Amino acid sequence: MKFSEVFIPTLKETPTDAIIPSHILMLRSGMVRMLSAGIYSFLPLGYKMIKKVTEIIREEMDAIGGQEFHLPALNPKEIWEETNRVEAFGDTMFHLKNRDYVLAPTHEEIMTYHAKGNINSYKEMPQIWYQIQTKFRNEARPRSGVIRGRQFLMKDAYSFDSSFENLDISYKKHDKAYRRIFDRCGLKYFVVGASSGAMGGSKSEEFMVKSDAGEDTVAYCEHCGYAANVEVAKSIIEPIKWNLEEKEIFEISTPNIKSIDELCEFLRIKETETAKSRIYIHNNQPILVLMSGNDEVNETKLESVLGGEIRPAHPEELKNISGADAGSIGPINFNFRILADNRLRGGKNLYSGANKNDFHIGGIDMERDVPTAEYFDLRTVEAGEKCTRCESNLDVFKAIELGHIFKLGTKYSDALGATFLDENGKDNPIVMGSYGIGVERVLACFIEQNYDENGIIWNDNLKPFDFELIALNMKKDEMASAATKIYEKLKSEKFDVLFDDRVNVQAGAKFADADLIGIPIQIIIGERGLKENKIDLKIRKTGEKFSVAADKLIEELKKR
Ligand code: ATP
Ligand code: MG
Repeated sequence: MKFSEVFIPTLKETPTDAIIPSHILMLRSGMVRMLSAGIYSFLPLGYKMIKKVTEIIREEMDAIGGQEFHLPALNPKEIWEETNRVEAFGDTMFHLKNRDYVLAPTHEEIMTYHAKGNINSYKEMPQIWYQIQTKFRNEARPRSGVIRGRQFLMKDAYSFDSSFENLDISYKKHDKAYRRIFDRCGLKYFVVGASSGAMGGSKSEEFMVKSDAGEDTVAYCEHCGYAANVEVAKSIIEPIKWNLEEKEIFEISTPNIKSIDELCEFLRIKETETAKSRIYIHNNQPILVLMSGNDEVNETKLESVLGGEIRPAHPEELKNISGADAGSIGPINFNFRILADNRLRGGKNLYSGANKNDFHIGGIDMERDVPTAEYFDLRTVEAGEKCTRCESNLDVFKAIELGHIFKLGTKYSDALGATFLDENGKDNPIVMGSYGIGVERVLACFIEQNYDENGIIWNDNLKPFDFELIALNMKKDEMASAATKIYEKLKSEKFDVLFDDRVNVQAGAKFADADLIGIPIQIIIGERGLKENKIDLKIRKTGEKFSVAADKLIEELKKR
């Protein structure tokens, strides 16, 4: 394709509304334009990239026996009411005003509906049905460009099996296909076991990439691959070395001392010599949660220990419960349940609040003075702590979900009455799985991992064109005709080439656009090369440049 004829509106400047690299570069390279918050138009270059990704997805889904569907995005609301998901999705679901329709945020219901009408016997399973189609979600905070859109493309697949054992097989097939898809795309990803949230069901895993644009924080071990959301992640942490000197508890005046840091400075003690107090309300009952030093309470862990809803006590409730305000609360003479983090087990000579404003208590021996404390893992893992599997150092970072595989079980088949006859002629609910990949996210995440200050760096599997051919000065007839000849030759060799034949664009601007768009190899036709009968090649990723003899060009390019 000739650059002079295609619509690739590149931008020199960084658009003001874009912050993360993929968003900036997708706008600047002319792949996308925003239509409204969270709604993006894919321009020809961007759509070409979408097709590259979806082709890889299709090939790998077909390889595990997937059959491609195309379901309507406009859905009768009724079906979604049968599974209670109009309520579950809440404001995230788009409703149409004039009819009882919704715009589908995913397609479990519709696939199950078709399975119900068409799968009658165990002999007709397994089935893997998938589609690559637009989804609609009224995301509260669309941001990060196409990574969180209100309209986005999803590859969604659904498996239908006659037993949970067979579901395991379908699930494993998807796990394999997902690894192949993301490997082929060249993404550095990791897999996190996850709770399945609004989708329901049992086992699920998320395929994630590290990114500052992510909304999840994960702990990851590069050595053994352990990965978990920090809400549930575990680690091994150095035990605290207690001061074993036997002392009675004593009260000490600490005027205006509120935080652990202030307390440590005031008393010239280490953080690990303190126990921080937080009061939560669980089933209308106050609970004191004690943490070592500045360790923060992990509310997800606390919730799973206590079961049910918890909330931090309001500041104005604290005095009634403990006798003191925030900053002076502690375990001594605290009359309700006390939970302590595992790190405090066996703690001696600890300082904590005195339940009296502006006073603390020292010399606390957890076993002796807080005998009712119940110990649990209540803290959030931090970078540098040791992996519980292999004892290597853990990393903690933000991550984005690329894809998700779920064992749904019979949640949707039960709700919609999708049953089949088993070997004994008995009716059973179909056992289902569901498997999603965000197509735009694959592209955006690839860019997040593959760019430099000049632009995107595509790899061979995703490159938008095989080569970019650049004629430095199309005003020179000799150069123009030489470059055009090479372009025709490359086309006849079935290479897909972007030919920068623009007449009124300076060489510098052509180089800048080529680097921005990021095709892996640039073929450069310049004056010096023409004289010497040589052609310059530039490798986008490394910036490496070298010349080949003009008559060896095709041979050289075929090697690459
Ligand atoms: P997230 O936690 O990021 O909102 P999700 O759990 O809602 O994701 P799923 O319902 O599992 O996502 O959807 C399957 C895939 O669709 C996700 O793994 C993600 O890649 C993609 N996806 C989900 N929401 C969006 C969105 N708003 N914009 C772009 N892609 C999305
Ligand atoms: Mg979501």
